[in-house]
Amino acid sequence: MKDRRRALRGIHHVTAIAGDPQENVDFYVDILGLRLVKRTVNQDDPGTYHLFYADAVGSPGTDLTFFAWPQAAHGREGTGQATSVALAIPQTAVSYWTTRLGNHRIPFEGPFRRLDEDVIALSDFHGQALELVAAPDVEARPWRPWTEGPVAPEHAIRGIHSVTLTESAEDSTAAFITGQLGFRLTVETGERKRFAVGDGGSGAWLDLIVTPDGRPGRVAVGTIHHVAWRTPTDDEQQTWWQQISDLGVPISEIIDRFWFHSIYFREPGGVLFEIATDGPGFLADESAEDLGARLVLPPWLEPTRAQIERALPPIALPHFAPAGQRTPSAL
Ligand code: ZN
Repeated sequence: MKDRRRALRGIHHVTAIAGDPQENVDFYVDILGLRLVKRTVNQDDPGTYHLFYADAVGSPGTDLTFFAWPQAAHGREGTGQATSVALAIPQTAVSYWTTRLGNHRIPFEGPFRRLDEDVIALSDFHGQALELVAAPDVEARPWRPWTEGPVAPEHAIRGIHSVTLTESAEDSTAAFITGQLGFRLTVETGERKRFAVGDGGSGAWLDLIVTPDGRPGRVAVGTIHHVAWRTPTDDEQQTWWQQISDLGVPISEIIDRFWFHSIYFREPGGVLFEIATDGPGFLADESAEDLGARLVLPPWLEPTRAQIERALPPIALPHFAPAGQRTPSAL
């Protein structure tokens, strides 16, 4: 790296494509117990939802988001794609999650051991590949429990653990992320190489799988649209923009997403990357209590709110028994 003080801090968010938005809410809130922290629209397609799920306040590294495109075709998992997103759970919560998924009739595989971690593999209602990974470092992660949710804090998902990229050729992606973005190879097992960025640890991992004969993936419903990496400041983002631009890699301008500022480019294997600022953050326009309760729009879309609201199907949040009335065995 040209400037050793400048480092990406891990995953900012992962954005995937869902089908029906209510089914998306039902899965991530009701079953996985994440909080809907931002109910907004896709700023590039404002007639459709962009739904953000995270911990209680949208702490950095906890954000999984979806474009909900109910009319879109299903995608295909393959090369040139981010093929899976892993969510971190406490090491003591593995049996809780297998029981909970079973009770909700969600098919899963595992738990199995991989890179010294227990992994449960599953898919959401629209085919998005997910993993729940028992991460040894979850207690050290910045995280705020959502006490109104269906999962008790001791078992709750603590944020994004890692993202897995599947590529047809290894060298270009590995060379780009290590040479340009500051990642380093930490461990290798079988077909999987794990790279860390920033301080490393869950939330700052990228797993790379190379399948030279794999079919190219198609990004649509049930696949990941892009992976965003954290940068702390606008100044550092500007420097990243200049560095990547100087390589001749096509890159967007710096885009104001209201809750953060973003640049977009593709890594050499074809996966869309974003570098997003930590601020201003999800509390810029809603109190912690109100996060996700209603449709919020960036100021420049407010003049068309009525038209936007007419285009969006209503979505409802599941209701849960108050925490004090739940039995400890309630799964
Ligand atoms: Zn994004």
